[in-house]
Amino acid sequence: MQRQFQLYIVPTPIGNMDDITLRAIEVLKNVDIIACEDTRTTQNILNHYNIKTKTVSYHKFNEKSKSDEIISIIKSGKTLALVSDAGTPMICDPGSVLLKELYKNDISVTSLAGPCAVTTFLSQVPRDNEYFTFVGFFPKTSQKAEELLGRFSDTNLVFYESPNRILDTLRLIKEYRGNIKVALGRELTKLFEEIVIDTADNIIEHFKDGIKGEIVCMVYASDDTNIDTKTKIKQLKDKGFKSKEIATILSTLYNLNKNDVYKLTME
Ligand code: SAM
Repeated sequence: MQRQFQLYIVPTPIGNMDDITLRAIEVLKNVDIIACEDTRTTQNILNHYNIKTKTVSYHKFNEKSKSDEIISIIKSGKTLALVSDAGTPMICDPGSVLLKELYKNDISVTSLAGPCAVTTFLSQVPRDNEYFTFVGFFPKTSQKAEELLGRFSDTNLVFYESPNRILDTLRLIKEYRGNIKVALGRELTKLFEEIVIDTADNIIEHFKDGIKGEIVCMVYASDDTNIDTKTKIKQLKDKGFKSKEIATILSTLYNLNKNDVYKLTME
C-alpha cells in the first residue's frame, strides 16, 4: 500500500527511454493531470509507456499563473504529477514557484527518485572526496565565471554547459585555474555517451573538431596551493591592487608567507 500525495515530482529519462522507474510509470498513469514543461516532449514518453493521462503546460514563462491554477485544481480534489523535459524537475528546470505555493497551501508533495544528469555523471567520475559544488549552468559572462572559479577553487565544481560554449569555457578555466584536471560527460545514457577525464588542454584537443550533445562538466578541486593563490592574485590584480597590497591581503587572510605571495605576483 503506497502513501497518497497530492503532487508528485516525477523524474523522466535524460536520454535512454528505459531509464524510468516502475513507480514513475505508475504515478504518471494514476494522477489526474501531468504538468509538463513542454507537453509535446512529454507526450513522447507518455506514448512510449501507453500513458493516457491529461497534460497541462507548466514552464518558466507561465510559472506564476500556472501555479495558481494548479493549486486550485489540487484543491478541487485532483492529483498532479510535475515533470520537466528530461531528468529531475527543479534541477535547472522550473518548479520552485509552484513548490513555494504548494507548501504555503499545505498541499502534500513528494519527489520520486530517478534520472538526473548531474548524479548520473558524478556516479561515474572518480573523486578523492565527496565534496562537490553544483552551480547549474556555467555563467555566461566572463566576470561571473571568473568569480565562480575563484570562489570554488578548493572544491570539485560541477556545472551544465552547452556544446557551443564548452570549449571557450574550458579555455577560460585554463586561463584562471591553470591546466587543471577536468571531467566531461557528454550524451549520458545515450548512444554516443562519453566520459573524458583529463587536463583542460587535452580535453580541448580531444574535441578539436567540435563537440555536440548535452554536457555535464566538473573542474577538479585544485590540489596545488600556488594555483589557488595565483587565481586570487589575478582577481585582485584585475581589481587594481598592487603587488605589495596583494601580498599583504593574501598573507593575512590565508596565513601565507608574504614574500612567497609577493614573488608569485611577479610571475
Ligand atoms: N533537469 C535536468 C536534470 O535532471 O539533469 C537538467 C535540465 S537542464 C535544462 C538541461 C542540461 O542538463 C543540458 O543542457 C545538459 O547540460 C544537462 N544534461 C541533460 N541531459 C544530459 C545528458 N544525457 N548528458 C549530459 N548532460 C545532460
